[in-house]
Amino acid sequence: MLTCKDATRLMSEAQDRPLSVGEKLQLEVHLAMCRGCSNFREQMNFLRLACRRFMQRRNGDDDGSSPS
Ligand SMILES: [Zn+2]
Repeated sequence: MLTCKDATRLMSEAQDRPLSVGEKLQLEVHLAMCRGCSNFREQMNFLRLACRRFMQRRNGDDDGSSPS
């Protein structure tokens, strides 16, 4: 069973490298049971999306669908 510390570490490592099947499984089990870590993941996904949109706008790739 993962601790919350292990779970958050795996989630951030997943940004940089593919997780093994075992790691993914343990993470999913933990997330299914832990509200705190599942909130953390949502926030991280949100930040990643926001960051990507910001970079796209900087690169002039914006498709005009977002108000500026
Ligand atoms: Zn947790």
